[in-house]
Amino acid sequence: MNIAGALNYGQTALTESESPEIDCQFLLCHSLECATSYLHTWPEKELTNEQQQQFEQLIAQRKKGQPVAHLIGQRGFWSLDLKVTADTLIPRPDTELLVSLALEKLTSQMTIVDLGTGTGAIALSLASEEPSCMVFASDASSAALAVAKDNASHHQLNNVRFWQGSWLCAISDHCLDMIVSNPPYIEANDEHLSQGDVRFEPIAALASGADGLDDIREIIVQAKDCLKPEGWLLIEHGYHQAKQVQELFFSAGFVTISSHKDYGDNDRVTIGQLPL
Ligand code: GLN
Repeated sequence: MNIAGALNYGQTALTESESPEIDCQFLLCHSLECATSYLHTWPEKELTNEQQQQFEQLIAQRKKGQPVAHLIGQRGFWSLDLKVTADTLIPRPDTELLVSLALEKLTSQMTIVDLGTGTGAIALSLASEEPSCMVFASDASSAALAVAKDNASHHQLNNVRFWQGSWLCAISDHCLDMIVSNPPYIEANDEHLSQGDVRFEPIAALASGADGLDDIREIIVQAKDCLKPEGWLLIEHGYHQAKQVQELFFSAGFVTISSHKDYGDNDRVTIGQLPL
């Protein structure tokens, strides 16, 4: 089998996937340890038996629904390639909106906390863009934290610290310039939880009570005691939750509240700051 044949075989096998072509390219690049451009440059190149076997196995697992990010063990986010395991949420492109909003508000030497860091996607992106800032990344899961730590050392980011715990419990009063989070926010009985990649991701990183807002409610209330005056809180949420999240910000005393749209034109991130 050559590269062109392998791509053809894989795409035909994965017709039920949302993105057979891209899935197949990622899986073949993983088996051949090459970049995508190589596939287009050398379509006639023959796979070794070992490469072909590995590729066919990956295609079979993908056909059963396993996420591509789990099969290849990584996902690109912002400017970073991040290690991903079944213990972490797979970073989504929509979360890059939160990173860009945070960067608009950041100035040098700020202290930032990323709550529920997972792979470290948000924390490490901010740390890499603003080396003078100190980023604290927390997660309730020690397995997720281990992945985030690996990602930080792989990218040689020295301005990140990690701790295990629940939201802001370990943080003292009014010491933070910014809090960012992509917490779980899906309704517990949402049918999406049993579809696609989500089936293979940790439920604790996805679902949060009947209306999906249990964790967001807790974070907003805790945040107001941990931020400095004029400190910012930025939270990712569901496409239909902006109004409720804005109300929660408002009730907790936040000002300058606004919601922002993701690539799919859905309100995805709400931000606000404490008054002076
Ligand atoms: N902060 C991580 C991300 O955005 C993980 C979020 C989570 O587990 N809910 O990818």
